[in-house]
Amino acid sequence: MDNEAYFMSILHNIQRRGQEVKAECPFKDLHESQTDNNPSLTVNLQKGVYYCNSCHSKGNVHTMYKYLEHKTAEEAWFDLGDALKIPRPDGTKPARPDIEPGLVQEYHRALMNLTGSLRDVLRDRRGLVDETLKRFMLGWDGERVTIPIYDEYNVLVNFRRYKWNSDNDQYKVLNYRDEYGNTYGEVRIFGLDRILDENVEYVVWCEGEMDRIITEQQGFPAACPTSGAGTFKPEWTRLFRNKKRVYLAQDNDEAGRNATKRLCEKLYRVVDVYVIQWPEGFPEKGDLTDYFTKCGQTAEDFQKLLNTAEKYIDPDIEDRLADEAEAIELHLSDSSAAEYFGRRLSIPVMVSGKDNTPYICPKRIKAECGEACDSESKKCANCTLAVMAGERIINLTSIDKDVLKLIKCTEKQQQQVMYEMMGINPRCDKVRLEIEEYMNLEELRLIPKAEANFGFSNEHEYVVR
Ligand SMILES: [Zn+2]
Ligand SMILES: [Zn+2]
Repeated sequence: MDNEAYFMSILHNIQRRGQEVKAECPFKDLHESQTDNNPSLTVNLQKGVYYCNSCHSKGNVHTMYKYLEHKTAEEAWFDLGDALKIPRPDGTKPARPDIEPGLVQEYHRALMNLTGSLRDVLRDRRGLVDETLKRFMLGWDGERVTIPIYDEYNVLVNFRRYKWNSDNDQYKVLNYRDEYGNTYGEVRIFGLDRILDENVEYVVWCEGEMDRIITEQQGFPAACPTSGAGTFKPEWTRLFRNKKRVYLAQDNDEAGRNATKRLCEKLYRVVDVYVIQWPEGFPEKGDLTDYFTKCGQTAEDFQKLLNTAEKYIDPDIEDRLADEAEAIELHLSDSSAAEYFGRRLSIPVMVSGKDNTPYICPKRIKAECGEACDSESKKCANCTLAVMAGERIINLTSIDKDVLKLIKCTEKQQQQVMYEMMGINPRCDKVRLEIEEYMNLEELRLIPKAEANFGFSNEHEYVVR
């Protein structure tokens, strides 16, 4: 059965607009009023996912089916098929069970029923209003504050567990672990829905969950990794292709600044990266939570911070621009000195001869390994493609000094040079190289201008060596 047929068969009070459906929430026993007369459930039929803005239930066609029909994950998979591309449960090995989604409600109710210092801390020190606790379904598991984490299919995949009364970062957050000792701590993106949503133009990349939550509370789309500063899996980069901008708002300390640098390098090729400049006098080690609470800054202030954030510029481009600014003026006879290797030279010459056939040289080269990239594998660890979301295109011009390595050589040598130029692991068997455009390079014989010189030197048109 496909997503649409299933949802349409079980939902009531349906209003449909294209692929989006509003309907009565089937979990209305979780609603304060026990009713849902003004439909709160939104379903995306195409993606097969749903969200209720009253009880904040979140899931997909499989999770809803499991719930309403009391089925296991495996049964749901066989009954509904893989229209959602959810991997088929492998019956041969004992699977780690899904986290019971009801825990989200249970923990949340426990938190909202608490009174006293914990709630004070969340409100005063963390700056979170009750509406936000509800929106993100923060909870209390008896020991720690819980934050539910969902995957791309809206499946509950972890609870981040905050030690609410500790400032010691090392022990601040734990991951969910079930009663059988199964762990759920893989690093994920908290706010993945913001990244995947094409209608969200930009995202603020924060250092931790609490920073993300307060930034969202102030009205800014935000996301963060479910682990410390700077964690960023190479395969996340490509997710940012649908964003116009990403703003990095890491903590005001050494770790945060190092993380910012690494993030810039990982992201700038797929999206415009802006680095937030903390205002003067902002406390060392300060973070977004401090900004909005202790420092009393408003959404308006933060918008100004976004507007004045510094755009990250590719250092290679800067170098090249600087190089192009100066060309050294020389006499042809001096130009072969070692010190001029790789420099731009300007030499007054006359063309005295020319070979008949130009060399064909790659101009636009595309390398792609796409989904084959895997941050966990050693092969990809030192591969530039891994940090560039599995795709890199370079455009060579006749003034690039590397172009001469691509002519007068065998095809195999040429390929080696291209691997090297693009920073690809030469042992990668997944990458595909494609030369999308070629250019002609001609070899000319030159003599110094207006000077008799019988020892003809053999030089190239652009004298780039
Ligand atoms: Zn609901
Ligand atoms: Zn690779």
